[in-house]
Amino acid sequence: MNLAILGATGSIGSSTLDVVSRHRDRYPLFALTANGSAEPLLELCRVHQPAYAVLSGARPDLELAKKFKRCGTELLFGPQALEQVATDSRCDVVMAAIVGAAGLASTLAAARAGKRVLLANKEALVMAGPLLTRAARDAGTRLLPVDSEHNAVFQCLSDAKSVRRIVLTASGGPFRAAPVESLDAVTPAQACAHPNWVMGRKISVDSATMMNKGLEVIEARWLFEVAPRAIDVVIHPQSIIHSLVEYVDGSLIAQLSTPDMRVPIAYALAWPERIASGAPRLDLAALKSLSFEPPDERRFPCLPLAYAALEQGGTAPALLNAANEVAVDAFLAGRLRFTGIASVIEQTLDKLAASPAADLDTILAADAAARRAAAALVLARAA
Ligand code: NAD
Ligand code: MG
Repeated sequence: MNLAILGATGSIGSSTLDVVSRHRDRYPLFALTANGSAEPLLELCRVHQPAYAVLSGARPDLELAKKFKRCGTELLFGPQALEQVATDSRCDVVMAAIVGAAGLASTLAAARAGKRVLLANKEALVMAGPLLTRAARDAGTRLLPVDSEHNAVFQCLSDAKSVRRIVLTASGGPFRAAPVESLDAVTPAQACAHPNWVMGRKISVDSATMMNKGLEVIEARWLFEVAPRAIDVVIHPQSIIHSLVEYVDGSLIAQLSTPDMRVPIAYALAWPERIASGAPRLDLAALKSLSFEPPDERRFPCLPLAYAALEQGGTAPALLNAANEVAVDAFLAGRLRFTGIASVIEQTLDKLAASPAADLDTILAADAAARRAAAALVLARAA
């Protein structure tokens, strides 16, 4: 199974490379991609020797291409090269691990080409749920969830017609117990210091605001075809139970493991089989207890905003996602307060009307409009 890893230099990318390194013969590497970080990508190519590498955010550079050639890797440039490797007939499996809306086109192209898509790039499904799931269905392939919660649900699903409810667990992030008044002054470093997971900066901030869980509710709606009201969120600070499925008979089935993304990555890679992931084993006796609490919507206003966008439908989730990306970028750059993230998203959604999300162009136009509106709101708040 020839594998392309889109976003190979990121957190999911490196966990994926760790898992496949344990199963070299089973997953030959076809392509590794990065946005602009040439040196880290070159280092990965030295170690893993893929046939292709892509620098999607860079212009052609012959000298650089020669360096990659010395590792036996052909280096391609520009965003269209992502689609080129993701749809190549020699590629069987695509790990979609680019962060944000930037991953949508290549993820959709991989699904349309009938590749097995291992989906970490949740933003693609948030923006274009109906389009992406239909593309996979029409091409006779599957989107296999890598997000730990959705991977857990996927592992717990047996009789889909008897599902009463899906319960997504959330850690509550670094500010679960902080005084609400203190959130105004939190720094990017504090927001990125997740108690249980080491992740990229964007998803770390999303976890701190709980927009991550909001995006995951939307993701679950499309992956498992359940009504929004049948998707619940519960805070579980230990991140040991990764999610649950409740059935009509009252049974709840859960998936547990140490919080290590190599577990869901290994499951998505090998499904329907299982392979060693390298994750440490869970010592139940050492855990002693697992706890649960409801999410506080005053502390985490992004969560109800995401439910509302899902209910509204059409391009509303794409507007939500784009406004969030702009607000999180601004927060990380020191141009917006932490509590401003939810306000900018809410005001963007108030300002822009959602429309039916019929095709990719409509969705990308909504994304662009929300980025402009959110950027103006960030500026206005700074003034
Ligand atoms: P990251 O920031 O660590 O890595 C992002 C990768 O995408 C890098 O390889 C980067 O070069 C590439 N990239 C960034 N911007 C790009 C652009 N404009 N065009 C092309 N490539 C670009 O992110 P991550 O934490 O690995 O997250 C990746 C995706 O997986 C996100 O959608 C995230 O929500 C999802 N996810 C991550 C985790 C986790 O534990 N990190 C868990 C669940 C889901
Ligand atoms: Mg998750």
